[in-house]
Amino acid sequence: MNYRTVLDKIYINSKDFPKMGVVSTSIPELAKVHPDKFGIHLTTINGEEIGVGNSNEKFSIQSVSKALTVALAFSKCGEEIWNRVGVEPSGNPFNSLVQLEFEKGIPRNPFINAGALVIADILVTVLQNPKEDLLHFIRTISGFETIDFNLKVAQSEKETGFRNAALANFLKSFGNIQNEVDVVLDFYFHQCSIEMTCKELAHAFFIFANEGKTKKGNQILTTSQVKRLNALMQTCGFYDESGEFTYRVGLPGKSGIGGGIAALLPKQFAIACWSPRLNEKGNSELGMFALEQLTTETGMSIF
Ligand code: GLN
Repeated sequence: MNYRTVLDKIYINSKDFPKMGVVSTSIPELAKVHPDKFGIHLTTINGEEIGVGNSNEKFSIQSVSKALTVALAFSKCGEEIWNRVGVEPSGNPFNSLVQLEFEKGIPRNPFINAGALVIADILVTVLQNPKEDLLHFIRTISGFETIDFNLKVAQSEKETGFRNAALANFLKSFGNIQNEVDVVLDFYFHQCSIEMTCKELAHAFFIFANEGKTKKGNQILTTSQVKRLNALMQTCGFYDESGEFTYRVGLPGKSGIGGGIAALLPKQFAIACWSPRLNEKGNSELGMFALEQLTTETGMSIF
């Protein structure tokens, strides 16, 4: 498979892609990003590394981090985590509150904000130095020691994160947040503020493509855990657009409002792309189009 040719073609096609969608303004600090940035990095099981465009520029991974925090919680606590968060698609926007009341404070899945806040609470409980340990985990799985928080973005989200504060308090009223709400929110805002390049993100997601093992061969998750997390990314990774992403792209993946998408094909490759213009569901317009071209041109998807 000549991925280089396909990625070069996707990059050329991106120049003609209509400038649809807008950069997220929900976090003021994120609104400063140039809307026309675009990069892709693909890393394969066979050791190929292919980058195009702005693939070595850092961006705010936002909700892509939810796939990494649930991986860490799953590796630490095992199946127990599913007593506090479900594994069903929500069919609702990422920051929705509505289902929580009917479902007694058990969020539908770990990728909507409510579910990610419960996972954050679990990590605050089980990690010794939660924020540092999360960074250490992401540095270890990706192999890049320079990955860090963007404190301005974390602060900016803290100042405007009323919806997340409401979610955390609502969860706490059901007993599904065990630590102080402010501590859990602080952890969550920091995880969302992490900055990575497409290359770093593709390398972090490599564990999901490589049966739980990093590039260096460290086993982080069991094959069963990887199966479960990939299934969740496939069915829930794009909120109320998970069906659309599955239909068009056919890969498990996770998006974020920084415009990043990380996806993978088990036993083949991990890929990350970044384009900050978002559609109304909060997913990258060009990122989805790029990945759709990749799987259509190569015929490489899980379906
Ligand atoms: N930090 C953002 C929030 O909690 C992440 C949302 C996202 O990327 N979809 O609202």
